[in-house]
Amino acid sequence: MKISETACKSALSRSGIYGWELVLNPYRGCMHGCVYCYAPNIIRRPRASWGHFVDIKKNIPNILAKELKRRSPALVGLSSVTDPYQELEEKYKLTRYCLEQLLKNKFPVSIITKSPLILRDLDIISKFSHSEIGITITTLDERLSSILEPGAPAITKRLDGLTKLSNEGLNTYAFLGPLLPTLEPEHVTEFLDRILATGVKSVMVDPLNLKPGIWPAVETALRDHPNIKTLFYERLFVDKEYYPKIFKLIRTECMERGVKFE
Ligand code: SF4
Repeated sequence: MKISETACKSALSRSGIYGWELVLNPYRGCMHGCVYCYAPNIIRRPRASWGHFVDIKKNIPNILAKELKRRSPALVGLSSVTDPYQELEEKYKLTRYCLEQLLKNKFPVSIITKSPLILRDLDIISKFSHSEIGITITTLDERLSSILEPGAPAITKRLDGLTKLSNEGLNTYAFLGPLLPTLEPEHVTEFLDRILATGVKSVMVDPLNLKPGIWPAVETALRDHPNIKTLFYERLFVDKEYYPKIFKLIRTECMERGVKFE
């Protein structure tokens, strides 16, 4: 892993993500190294290097502090092309310091992560008058997750983290995105039992989007698992009804259980 300490010139940028007005990425690169990640396409870094480098924007809390003074409060999303609670955050605390600035300047936040390290910052997050916290769950299959999300925390740790966040009374959601195409329609109820047991207030879904370079990377990662690879191929390229059908089932279950579906 190549770790570089760098300086950034700006902290906030306009967001193309629905609901987020601004985005903040304290790191460039992500140790989680998810094979399906679209961030290399956005920041124009070779996919082969993804998960093997992280640039640490050491001065970002100071730059942010200056930018916030010039702006009116708007929803800030953390993060769009990195995980704000990847392992390095434990040492560098850039996300934490940025949250302190956002809180001080009364900016609302929306945080999405795969890591229970977010629990460390509950003392700050709980003070925001508006916050939404999402944890990404793409599958309940730990083995599949370890193949496609090699540097990310185990699914059980994410579910435990989500439960703790919900128990703290925070506005939590489960981000099922990309929902990996191995979930069978007949297992949706059981799948949602696990997800909703965390106490989340809403569920958000997204299919596996095949931006350039993603399918070859997924295919390579699944080379020793021909049955899973075939299933992915079928449901991503042939069966155009797979995702609409699964999402409809999830939506119906969520509505029946009084959980918001997005
Ligand atoms: S955690 Fe998010 S940003 Fe990091 S590699 Fe995975 S999908 Fe990309």
